[in-house]
Amino acid sequence: MTLLGSKADGDAAGDERVRRQVKRRTYWWCALIFTLGSLAHPLVLGELQPAFFLVHLGWSAAFVVLGALVGAGWIRGPESGIAAGLVSLVALSLSISITGGLSSPLFPSFYTVPLLVAVFTPGQRLPVWSAIVGTLVAVVLMTWRAQAPWSAFITQSISLGFTFLVSAYGAETFRRLQGAEKSAHLERVEALRQLADSELRRVRVERQRAEVERLVVVGQLAAGVAHEVNNPLAYVKSNLRYLEEEWAEGAPADLDDVRRVLEETQQGVMRIQQIVTDLRMFSRDEPGGMESCDVAATLAEAQRLASVRLRSLGVVERDVMPDLAPARVTPRHLVQVLVNLLINAADALESARPSRPAHVVLRARMEDGLVRVEVEDNGPGIAEAVLPRLFEPFFTTKPPGKGTGLGLALCREYVARAGGTLEAENRAEGGARFILRLPSQGAQAPARLRDEPAAAATEPVAE
Ligand code: ADP
Repeated sequence: MTLLGSKADGDAAGDERVRRQVKRRTYWWCALIFTLGSLAHPLVLGELQPAFFLVHLGWSAAFVVLGALVGAGWIRGPESGIAAGLVSLVALSLSISITGGLSSPLFPSFYTVPLLVAVFTPGQRLPVWSAIVGTLVAVVLMTWRAQAPWSAFITQSISLGFTFLVSAYGAETFRRLQGAEKSAHLERVEALRQLADSELRRVRVERQRAEVERLVVVGQLAAGVAHEVNNPLAYVKSNLRYLEEEWAEGAPADLDDVRRVLEETQQGVMRIQQIVTDLRMFSRDEPGGMESCDVAATLAEAQRLASVRLRSLGVVERDVMPDLAPARVTPRHLVQVLVNLLINAADALESARPSRPAHVVLRARMEDGLVRVEVEDNGPGIAEAVLPRLFEPFFTTKPPGKGTGLGLALCREYVARAGGTLEAENRAEGGARFILRLPSQGAQAPARLRDEPAAAATEPVAE
């Protein structure tokens, strides 16, 4: 608003300066015309009249001075108009008196005085009406001095009246035009001010919306963290309950089993710690994926970690080719990806409650120098409409409170960081298959894998 206000002030000052310059130029043009008129007077009057010449020179000089004063801003419009009218009236009265009074060939030039003033002070009533009154007084005086019949005055007055009307009407019209222009200018300034206000409001609303969105994302991320932590927490909890029950009736007989359960529990706690560290890394966007990973061992670990969920559902099979090269990926990331895929498979199998027993396969082999890992299940598969959106963050088909839609997005992010790809497809015989392609240790990752980490979900394939 302040900016607009000062800009409007600046514009108004600039306009005023231009107006003054135009007026000064007009005064000086008139002075030149009066001088040329005085030089040409012998042609009109038939002889050289020094007095007439001097009067005109004085008139011109007065206009030069008036122009300079107006241009410098020392006198304003109305005063300069009145002064110009007065000077012109005096100069014309003298010229007409010198050249024969009422019968002077210059007498009609009286008519020009109000017009002249209207030109110099457009839109101002006072100077124009002073010029009209002044001209009338001058004509009355001249008629009285010449002792001419009053009928002559009336004839002159009728002609003068027309000129006066034109002058007054012109001045009035100009005044109205100026008023309209001024209010249009004010409206323009007001519209600009409102525009600036609404722009400010828009920016404020935009900022508030971004803040709300950020809060929503933070909320969803928090839910995602809970989702990630809940899986290891589930088996830590069930293992602790198992140990509690075992010890309820004294020291357990099978200490090997207890040791195994304790190891598993410790791994679960470490997993939670890793998840928290990983999430921190996720938010920091640190580069990863340059470690060597024993895929067979990682598959075994992931299977063990997810077994709490899968054990009761059916069979989990591991099929690893013996010539498998180590993959170039952070091992804990790969474990996390695989656990995620296995938990998703368990969710899908559970939700479908198939008549046949659940069958989950973890498979790994070499393919074109890459390590190809598959996680497949014989669940309901992925709906056609869901496939293209599978890896979108926060996309889930699970009921509220169960799914966050962050699991697969995080999986793809981890795989992409290692320069690999993660895709999904439906198996021809039913169920879903997730395919990971990872660069193998020692081999240079192909450009396609490095440049296109986020490959699209693929269509179902026949097997
Ligand atoms: P969430 O598990 O929280 O829903 P994910 O990103 O892990 O988030 O999974 C997104 C969606 O992908 C799931 O809601 C589900 O519809 C689908 N999905 C994932 N794995 C499978 C699978 N094995 N079988 C069928 N659908 C699956």
